Amino acid sequence: MRVDLVTIFPDFFRGPLDYGILRRARESELVDVRVHDLREFTRDRHRTVDDRPFGGGEGMVLKPEPIFECIEKLKVAARNERLAGRAKESVILLSAQGRRLDQALAQELAALDRLVLICGRYEGVDERVSEHLADREISIGDYVLSGGELGAAVIVDTVVRLVPGAVGNEASTRQESFTASVAPATGDAPSSTCDSGGLLDYPHYTRPAEFRGMTVPEVLVNGNHDQIRRWRRRTALEKTLRNRPDLIDAATLSDEDRMLLAEMKK
Ligand code: SAM
Repeated sequence: MRVDLVTIFPDFFRGPLDYGILRRARESELVDVRVHDLREFTRDRHRTVDDRPFGGGEGMVLKPEPIFECIEKLKVAARNERLAGRAKESVILLSAQGRRLDQALAQELAALDRLVLICGRYEGVDERVSEHLADREISIGDYVLSGGELGAAVIVDTVVRLVPGAVGNEASTRQESFTASVAPATGDAPSSTCDSGGLLDYPHYTRPAEFRGMTVPEVLVNGNHDQIRRWRRRTALEKTLRNRPDLIDAATLSDEDRMLLAEMKK
């Protein structure tokens, strides 16, 4: 996968892309992340990227010209890649007004060959970028950030870990919070783990089994995989009901899950 980040603060990305899974994915060339300084696409002495808004009002707005020039240059490069058979791409504008990022959207983006992420600043970006240049606007949540860079880093992190090969044990990404099941959870799943089916993840524990008087649930150390699977499913349901009841309706639930939920709600 190729990721192009368009920003007025290229140094911002030094930290977020240099650790853990992202770093390994870059080193193994699973993902090629390139950062583009918007100021390099300006034509004036002061390298101006912003201007006052038409109609008056607060703050400054990122000008359209440098963004269009940058993305057009990237599109020429993408056209050459298309010739090489890599076609699926998306130009994304980071925006508080965009579609909210969730695991399903991250999975959709992970299936693409190329992402171009445009980071806004100030009061935002000239609307013509969203209307005529970007394929979509994405928000990372219902709050306002100072700039799109943090949002872009969140998207890159979330998406890259879903690219096959990025996470050592791919099964682990399938059973994480929010991940929709490929098939409904059944009572006779073969392993001690289970797909989250759109629920929050179950609780995790590691050694020591007793720490300052706090003990690991007995079921996890007794080696009975069916009991462990049931315990994980029940605790995932409990946690989802407690912290994110809105996820329950859309989750993939087995008959056993529904019975457990009915008991919990009593
Ligand atoms: N005036 C805008 C509004 O009220 O929606 C907020 C502009 S914000 C201060 C500057 C930039 O930060 C935006 O252009 C966008 O790129 C980025 N940004 C802010 N909140 C975001 C969010 N929730 N998700 C993604 N990007 C965001």
